[in-house]
Amino acid sequence: MPGYNHLFIPGPTNVPDSLRRAVDLPMEDMRAPDFPEFTLPLFEDLKKVFQTETGQVFLFPGSGTGGWEAAITNTLSPGDKVLASRFGQFSNLWVDLCQRHGLEVEAIDVPWGEGVPVTRYAEALAADTEHRIKAVLVCHNETATGVTSDVAAVRAALDSVGHPAMLYVDGVSSIASIDFRMDEWGVDVAVSGSQKGFMLPTGLAIVCVSQKALEARKSAKLNRCYFDFEDMIRTNASGYFPYTPATTLLRGLRASVDYLLGEGLDNVFARHHRMAEGVRQAVNAWGLKLCAATPHWYSDTVSAIYVPEGIDSAAVVRHAYYRYNLSLGAGLTKVAGKVFRIGHLGAINEVMVLSALAGTEMVLRDVGIPVEAGSGVAAAQEHFRATATGEQSIA
Ligand code: PLP
Repeated sequence: MPGYNHLFIPGPTNVPDSLRRAVDLPMEDMRAPDFPEFTLPLFEDLKKVFQTETGQVFLFPGSGTGGWEAAITNTLSPGDKVLASRFGQFSNLWVDLCQRHGLEVEAIDVPWGEGVPVTRYAEALAADTEHRIKAVLVCHNETATGVTSDVAAVRAALDSVGHPAMLYVDGVSSIASIDFRMDEWGVDVAVSGSQKGFMLPTGLAIVCVSQKALEARKSAKLNRCYFDFEDMIRTNASGYFPYTPATTLLRGLRASVDYLLGEGLDNVFARHHRMAEGVRQAVNAWGLKLCAATPHWYSDTVSAIYVPEGIDSAAVVRHAYYRYNLSLGAGLTKVAGKVFRIGHLGAINEVMVLSALAGTEMVLRDVGIPVEAGSGVAAAQEHFRATATGEQSIA
């Protein structure tokens, strides 16, 4: 097909040219004497993205799922009790991973379209007077439904009853795109990956760990080897890794962190909010509904959009791909066939979002959904024009 694929899945995201060049490198000597001059500042600067001063960042070859596993196996023991909630494919899978590791999970099921049930968490924590719950899991941004949960509120729930459980956050589709504050929210383990907000190819699990969680590793008995924090701590201290690191991705990560800090985290978050709001205005103009039940749950990185009864959302995704070279996210498991998703995270700007909306609009009409031509694009355009900030090129 002429032109290029318009990638609007919620990760992997578009890799900006500067980052693509940053990973297009010859292999290098990961035991070179000056390698630490590159890695040690990278470890430090990554902490700024997690908004932590006291945490420690680990970089594993892998993806978000590997990060989940690292988080759990380094800090917990078989049979430990975990409080979690399920409201989409990813929050589900994390629970599944915990169960497969022999943890006892109290999983609260929530309708898809809502997020972490803070009140029910608070009740469960208050009832746990013996402090059997060792870990509280929060999927910050459920990518399957486009729902963002309130991590600070979960911290407040823990604090309100003085519960000592550690707080674990899946930030795979939030960190580096949506405000995430490791220290302020008292997060103990935060998990991310390279291919979403960090705008890089897939291949790194990026895990940030509090001192409390690092301490917990000393008594944690779950089996671990490849993802052992201990080996990382020992070798990272002098700037090296326990096994062959993904050097090109690490170089890319340097460029990614520079990109994010150069734009300014607050500006990154504001841009994502603005892009997301443009998409939401379009969805509204089309007369369609988001999977996120109320504005409280709206995600600034991904929108899952219901198609009307009688339409298969998989056909929307398929048609977009083959007819217009536009990649949209499919509906997963419970909402398969019911929603399609537009990813609006990473290196995106207004006109990129408008291109996705224009393509989507054509697809919706092609498959028989009676949206008015141009309505979604116009709504987003007006939102972007009304909220434009920064330098104006028109005198
Ligand atoms: N958690 C969330 C919220 C995700 O969106 C994903 C993947 O999309 C994962 C975890 C799993 O990450 P990965 O596919 O990188 O293993």
